[in-house]
Amino acid sequence: MTTYDFDLFVIGAGSGGVRAARFAADFGARVAVAESRYLGGTCVNVGCMPKKYFIYGASFRDEFRQARGYGWDAEVPAFDWNTLVASKDHEIRRLNGIYRALLVNSGVTLLEAHARILDPHTVEVEGRCYRCERILIATGGWPDVPDFPGREHAITSNEAFYLPELPKRVVVVGGGYIAVEFASIFQGLGAKTTLLYRRELFLRGFDQGVREHLRDEMLKRGHDLQFNADVARIDKVADGSLQVTLKDGRVLEADCVFYATGRRPMLDDLGLENTGVALDERGFIEVGETFQTTEPSIYAIGDVIGRVQLTPVALAEGMTLARHLFSPDSYRPLNYDLIASAVFSLPNLASIGLSEEEARERGHRLKIFQSSFRPTKLSLTEVQERTLMKLVVDADSDQVLGCHMVGPDAGEQIQCLAIALKAGATKACFDDTLGIHPTAAEEWVTMRKPVREDEAR
Ligand code: NDP
Repeated sequence: MTTYDFDLFVIGAGSGGVRAARFAADFGARVAVAESRYLGGTCVNVGCMPKKYFIYGASFRDEFRQARGYGWDAEVPAFDWNTLVASKDHEIRRLNGIYRALLVNSGVTLLEAHARILDPHTVEVEGRCYRCERILIATGGWPDVPDFPGREHAITSNEAFYLPELPKRVVVVGGGYIAVEFASIFQGLGAKTTLLYRRELFLRGFDQGVREHLRDEMLKRGHDLQFNADVARIDKVADGSLQVTLKDGRVLEADCVFYATGRRPMLDDLGLENTGVALDERGFIEVGETFQTTEPSIYAIGDVIGRVQLTPVALAEGMTLARHLFSPDSYRPLNYDLIASAVFSLPNLASIGLSEEEARERGHRLKIFQSSFRPTKLSLTEVQERTLMKLVVDADSDQVLGCHMVGPDAGEQIQCLAIALKAGATKACFDDTLGIHPTAAEEWVTMRKPVREDEAR
């Protein structure tokens, strides 16, 4: 009989790997986790958490401006980049410690070094081989910068959190979550920021109306948004600054070029060639419903499978897999429907369910409810920012198919509405709900007349 050192060997201590390891250990499995970089993975170290601190940092500019209308005779004070970075680093070290304690206290063996798969049941860490009944790959993703002359001058989100100083002029390239969030961070903290996106409007896949609203609000804040624009080359010039030549021949001057053009799966030196693990056509690890790869003893979850690259999804995948393997009675397949998400731009954009365009493509006859208003907090200020809330409703069943918002704390609001949508709420449920006055969120339950309604068929 084969004896194994571990029932489950997890490679990668990010959100998904740690969750799977802890749950598996709680269910009685003998578990090891190997991590070569940082505990907590992308989210804790170079993703969600530091990004949120930086967005909070950037948002104080708004607060200082608004305070004047309320009698605070304040100029925008000087901003110190090094203080923000040091505070962020301090907090992240605390979070790393929490992750370490979570693992160790649940009885998981933690190996803080690179792990390489030698065969479907063997992992090597620092020259030592471990025999494992199952291996879980949870190595996450890595920024993917396309190949072009001068790409070595570009930085990514991995470096942005550790820059020695706030650049004066930043060119952000990309039109996804990371590009839009970092454009808001750099601009809010005081850098002159240009965002370049290769198509006509950023955040492809989100509802067109909210994308346009966010574009307009970012323009009001002084962003330089350049759509249908892409980089041909980057050159470093004598004074150390960067010259960004666009494909249309224009040249931009910058101190920093920040690329956020998607993320690739982190498979470097993992030893996949020693296994039968197959990749899908995009290069991510291919898995079935229970996260099993094409090598039966090897599983994969999180960004490395490229399904939905969000922390709560990786957490849910980790939990689902641990249940499937070690607590089958509590196992339920993971439902990927209705996943809410937020872009932590300034202002925030958040969304759950179908966009108007997706709902139409799927054949729904729609009623669209929409409210655009200046938030009460801004009434005493000169700030002209407007919030947008939008409901996509099936005209025949009355079911609410999607909720979309651009405005302060949009992520917080959409998180709560996600429960209603998961429960199958109809527009009548929204109408029957009394608001909390005065809040922005009460608008969700006071939109009476559709702004558009498809004709009856
Ligand atoms: P995304 O995949 O969201 O966006 C990539 C962007 O880069 C798109 O606008 C894409 O354009 C553009 N792009 C891709 N290739 C090129 C190229 N060769 N040249 C120019 N532009 C290019 O990636 P991100 O890096 O923004 O984020 C990665 C993932 O991380 C996201 O999918 C998201 O799931 C997750 N994330 C979530 C956050 C949150 O929940 N708040 C925050 C940050 C990240 P096009 O539209 O034309 O394809």
